[in-house]
Amino acid sequence: MGFGNPQYEGLLKELEIELDERGNVRATEKNYHTNIPKIFAAGDMRRGQSLVVWAISEGRECARKVDEYLMGHSLLESKDQNILHEI
Ligand SMILES: Cc1cc2nc3c(=O)[nH]c(=O)nc-3n(C[C@H](O)[C@H](O)[C@H](O)COP(=O)(O)OP(=O)(O)OC[C@H]3O[C@@H](n4cnc5c(N)ncnc54)[C@H](O)[C@@H]3O)c2cc1C
Repeated sequence: MGFGNPQYEGLLKELEIELDERGNVRATEKNYHTNIPKIFAAGDMRRGQSLVVWAISEGRECARKVDEYLMGHSLLESKDQNILHEI
């Protein structure tokens, strides 16, 4: 549960996923990518304790970034502008 800080033991530790200074998974709002290729993070896991509206917004934005990563572009809606995004 992201709300109580990510649990480091297990998945995060085994994959050597980097945390930020607050103990959350380090991933930027630019692309939601962690330090490990193909691993993305969004919501409380990335932001720390927050609101459900942020979790929904980040989930949607992150999905678009994953789509772009896999396909080279995405037709999913952007929070900022409803246009086709190329990497
Ligand atoms: C008690 C409480 C009250 C809240 N009240 C409000 C409120 O009134 N209004 C509001 O806006 N927000 C509220 N929040 C905050 C809101 O619930 C969170 O911001 C939101 O749920 C975050 O969504 P998320 O998807 O990022 O993370 P989460 O909802 O924490 O979902 C993460 C999911 O990942 C799963 N998971 C974790 N590790 C693994 C793993 N290794 N493998 C597979 N699955 C895994 C977890 O079981 C969980 O289902 C509250 C939170 C709490 C705890």
